Amino acid sequence: MNKKIYGLAEIAKDEIANFCMTECKGFCCREGYIIIRPTELDLMATKIVQQNLEATFITRELLTGKIALNFSNSTTGCPALKNGLCTIHKNPDRANVCKNFPIFINGKEVKVSPRCLAVQKGMLDNFKIQAKKLGYNAI
Ligand code: SF4
Ligand code: SF4
Repeated sequence: MNKKIYGLAEIAKDEIANFCMTECKGFCCREGYIIIRPTELDLMATKIVQQNLEATFITRELLTGKIALNFSNSTTGCPALKNGLCTIHKNPDRANVCKNFPIFINGKEVKVSPRCLAVQKGMLDNFKIQAKKLGYNAI
């Protein structure tokens, strides 16, 4: 594993953090679709809130035992999102998809999510250039 690419990804996410908080205000947490473990859902919402999510078809249990959480069916997005900020951001046990978004590294492939507003604005273009220089297929 090339640790350098993970370091670059963290720097790139730090660089968009202010935009995430002040301009985008968590679009990915309001409109996204993520697959998480039940324990990760427990971090996001109390059992009562989870029941409400189930009742409105925002959550669905998959055959794998994981949970599909579809924020686009909701009016408020992820229950852990408050005033555009993730209230469990510092919790090391939060879902990997939340830790990684909008950059996903898999072997020699690096993907940035086209759903991310910072990506759409080209704010991660420099990161992709740096990733390519390290020999990654960055798309
Ligand atoms: S969609 Fe992109 S810019 Fe918006 S909060 Fe999520 S990661 Fe940040
Ligand atoms: S847990 Fe936090 S980062 Fe993950 S979807 Fe919810 S608000 Fe967004």
